[in-house]
Amino acid sequence: MSFASDVRGELARLPVEDACCARSELTAALLCSGGIAWRGRERYAVTLTASEAPTVRRYFAMLKRFYGIIGQIRALSGDALNNQTRYQLAVPEAEALGLLSALALLDETALFGLRPLPAEETVRYSCCKKAFVRAAFTMCGAISNPDRHYHLEIAAPTETLAECIMAQLAAFDIDAKCSMRKSKHVVYLKRAEDISDMLSLMGAAKAMMAFENVRVKKEVSNRVNRQLNCDNSNINRSMNAAEAQIRDIRYIDAELGLEKLPDSLRDMAYTRANNPEMPLAELGELMDPPIGKSGVNARLRRISAIAEKLRNGEAVKLKGLKNDDSN
Ligand SMILES: [Zn+2]
Repeated sequence: MSFASDVRGELARLPVEDACCARSELTAALLCSGGIAWRGRERYAVTLTASEAPTVRRYFAMLKRFYGIIGQIRALSGDALNNQTRYQLAVPEAEALGLLSALALLDETALFGLRPLPAEETVRYSCCKKAFVRAAFTMCGAISNPDRHYHLEIAAPTETLAECIMAQLAAFDIDAKCSMRKSKHVVYLKRAEDISDMLSLMGAAKAMMAFENVRVKKEVSNRVNRQLNCDNSNINRSMNAAEAQIRDIRYIDAELGLEKLPDSLRDMAYTRANNPEMPLAELGELMDPPIGKSGVNARLRRISAIAEKLRNGEAVKLKGLKNDDSN
């Protein structure tokens, strides 16, 4: 089962409480799926076709309870191109006109006598706006598995319908985008927050929780990865510093001889050379007497300065160096 079919399954099983929302949901389902066909003067064929049986059963139950209409459900077997079985709910022809009128979809002045958009009162209340979005998603929506990426879309058949869906979402501060794809006007969301909000406004509470769990896991693992990368680069930096120190120590040994160094620097040089991967603070503990991290740092810097002078052919005045520094 894909995440998308989990969402549709959950939406199909939500209780329908109010007549206002049933009207809005049926209106969206018919408009978005193109389920209304004109058959001549005042004759319409009204059908709803979906890939999941529970979706069709939901609309069947709404028609029966709120409009007293007994629809006919049948399975459509897949064709050679698409092997998937689909389910169709057909409204008896004698009831079609009455239903379209009850849904406020008839308009004498419009093409084929049908409104291409819901009447204003159909989506007036926020419960009905949610119901409208729910059916639009159920009939022509898709959502990616959040493990992969964040994407939710509703492929509306017309631009005006896409705008209508965006307007419903905007009422809940969800800012959807729209783009054309294969003659469909695709309303889509890419931000995890918006997708989560939309799942919750449609009533898919379980799917929303599953989505949030994946989202939190992904964010934690991104944070851990960033921290690991950061730790690695710190480790690399101190490794590079230690390598440079050891190069300097070897250079001094070859050019001058470590035994010429003052005691404190000579001991430091041996200790570093024998412990190339040891952090500064631990190097300090090996010294006799032990010294702190900043003392180690100061001595290693003086060693490097001596190596630098030797490389540049400058005179190195070791007598001038204090034998012991209390750094
Ligand atoms: Zn309502």
